Amino acid sequence: MSETPGDTTRAGASQAPHHLAEVRAAIAKACRAFDRRPQDVTLIAVSKTFPADAVRPVLEAGQRVFGENRVQEAQAKWPELRAAFPDARVHLIGPLQSNKVREAVELFDAIHTVDRPKIAAAIAAEQARTGRALELFVQVNTGAEPQKAGVLPEAADAFIAECRDVHGLTLSGLMCIPPADAVPDPHFALLAEIAARNGLKGLSMGMSGDFPAAIRQGATHIRVGSAIFGHRPPLT
Ligand SMILES: *Cc1c(COP(=O)(O)O)cnc(C)c1O
Repeated sequence: MSETPGDTTRAGASQAPHHLAEVRAAIAKACRAFDRRPQDVTLIAVSKTFPADAVRPVLEAGQRVFGENRVQEAQAKWPELRAAFPDARVHLIGPLQSNKVREAVELFDAIHTVDRPKIAAAIAAEQARTGRALELFVQVNTGAEPQKAGVLPEAADAFIAECRDVHGLTLSGLMCIPPADAVPDPHFALLAEIAARNGLKGLSMGMSGDFPAAIRQGATHIRVGSAIFGHRPPLT
């Protein structure tokens, strides 16, 4: 198909506005500037809090990888969207409770928030039971923020080894969310360094405000919400 990405004016397309084309252009620009290949940077369109009617036009514009941060919200939203777009992929980018692992492994294609032994063990058991194999990212709390999920940088090597050797997980890479008020580049560089010394290729880093910097530091997966879907009402 030769439809124009982001063109929501075609007859038959839904009319909710979005900025997929602008974000794709900005990704292409960053790739040119930092000598990265665009096909090595996967855009995850973060559709959390937006209803299916807002997600559909982005699917119609050709986007296929999406991010959600709550199991329950994804369960409510994605079955009908997947029925219409069977090749859509949905990544869990929010925290995972162990009592939700069964539903998460059934529903998602990737989990970016593996950060403790109990969750690693539960994912391993559920993958074995179902025969499913998700893309898995270990979340690293690069800023060592007390309120933030993720394994501490100094504990990352041991946790990665435990995921592999004790739980038998195949990991795709690492994920981080730099502190909101920090210059993100050193956090992205730290994540890349931990990944490289552990033989991991995937780097899930960069959001609406900082994805060009993340691409510069080697991001393979950028998680972009508001720059595509617009302002998100604050969660209460
Ligand atoms: C919401 C969220 C994003 C997207 O944030 P934007 O600033 O809207 O691009 C990325 N990653 C995670 C983990 C999120 O929760």
